[in-house]
Amino acid sequence: MKCSICGAKLKKEGDICINCYKEFQEEEDLKKDNEERLKIKRKYSISYEFFKYIEVIVICILSIVICISSGGILEALGVIVICALVMGFLLFIDKRIAMGTKATFYNKKAVYKFKLAFIDTTKVVKYTDISDIRYFQTNRQKKYGYGDLCIYTKGKIPGSGFLNGFQIKNVENVEEVFGKIGEILGVQAEE
Ligand SMILES: [Zn+2]
Repeated sequence: MKCSICGAKLKKEGDICINCYKEFQEEEDLKKDNEERLKIKRKYSISYEFFKYIEVIVICILSIVICISSGGILEALGVIVICALVMGFLLFIDKRIAMGTKATFYNKKAVYKFKLAFIDTTKVVKYTDISDIRYFQTNRQKKYGYGDLCIYTKGKIPGSGFLNGFQIKNVENVEEVFGKIGEILGVQAEE
């Protein structure tokens, strides 16, 4: 008799071996794990967006002032239109990314979803596969309490640990969220 999944030899009669059964059992447990503990989203705020793109805005305003002061009203209007289009595009993209990004933490797993235009990704990360959690903040993010949250998994290939994990940028109250994730994972470790 052979295991119908991995082909390992079976001592007793049966469809699958102990290892495959364990894996199957674990998968079933993960599927049943539906209690939402924490939801994380990428924050979109207009004031932060303007703060983030402050250099672009300053350059736009300077260009407009230079055009007007040199008597080029039409050029000034042109610059205004271009600046408005560029800013509008940047804001639109950031808003879309924020709307399409979320992670939900359950008792044993985290589910990460990213949706943008034709991209539609879902990642399920078991807590037992997580090797590290970190968050990073730029000075601008710090002022808003935002941060980029990174979930790293154990990877057999160097560098693959992050690819199997996920990152959510501009998480609001990142320090607090980071603490909550630690609590959820900590409880898991004690079990
Ligand atoms: Zn097997």
